[in-house]
Amino acid sequence: MERLILALDFGGTKLAAAAVEPGKRSFRARASVPSPPDKSAETDREIMLALAEEVLGGKRPAAVGVSFGGPVREGVVLLSHHVPDWEDFPLAEWLRERFGVPVAVENDANAAALGEWRYGAGRGTRHFLYVTVSTGIGGGIVIGGELYRGADGLAGEIGHIVVDPDGPRCTCGRRGCLEALAAGPAIARRARELLASHHRSGEGRIVLELVRGDPERITAREVAAAAVRGDPLAAEILREAGEALGFGLAQAITLLNPERIALGGGVVKAGEPLLRPVREAAERYAFPGARVNLTVADLGDDAPLWGAAALAQDLL
Ligand SMILES: [Zn+2]
Repeated sequence: MERLILALDFGGTKLAAAAVEPGKRSFRARASVPSPPDKSAETDREIMLALAEEVLGGKRPAAVGVSFGGPVREGVVLLSHHVPDWEDFPLAEWLRERFGVPVAVENDANAAALGEWRYGAGRGTRHFLYVTVSTGIGGGIVIGGELYRGADGLAGEIGHIVVDPDGPRCTCGRRGCLEALAAGPAIARRARELLASHHRSGEGRIVLELVRGDPERITAREVAAAAVRGDPLAAEILREAGEALGFGLAQAITLLNPERIALGGGVVKAGEPLLRPVREAAERYAFPGARVNLTVADLGDDAPLWGAAALAQDLL
């Protein structure tokens, strides 16, 4: 009888499930729904069980892997970054009881790193760093062919490397973290600041056009689109963010000497206006001789789901 593994992704904007045949690089079945507006842990679990049933089509999985959007320790969710009431929930045990098979749970940054390493941009490497740049900046580290979690599961928090001690306030309470300078909200905030402070002729005109004159509606997406269309203000903002990101990556390169670094997340879709300064700064600030091998991640929003599949596969 055919064996299937079940991969689950409790993400920030969606819930997703997939069934995968062990060893395959495509989903046998995949289903997802956007996170409901009235978020609760219980609703998330109900939806996820329905999605699991849908992708399994009545079959029992051989193992279950889970990517979760928040810190997890030994199968227990400490909290969700997106949904209330997840505190201290024993997710692995709960799923084990439902499916009667082994379960592994990992936070989403680690899961995405594992997914990209096993199925995407990190394939073939032994030492790999994955960094996602979206509303926050997160990362996962593979060393010697294994996920590196650190003493307390906090390894890979590259978004909270301080790159400017006098910089803007970060979500973690400190100042000048990489995330506070180069994540999507930081890029949007910088655009609003520069538009308000200088009214240099023409600069920022295209960004403003894209939001119909309302600076409050600016996101990193409009800044990126404006840069492509030749807006100098937008290009300058992406260059600053890219330099901060490259500086942060250089510290990781000096410390870890990865074979390859894959950049994922929505902000990376800004392309060369962001990536060129990232590469230049990484090369400028990394230890001389350390390789700087930056690439764009392959799996898009499905990286955590593929990581969940890799976790389940390892349980067989
Ligand atoms: Zn921080």
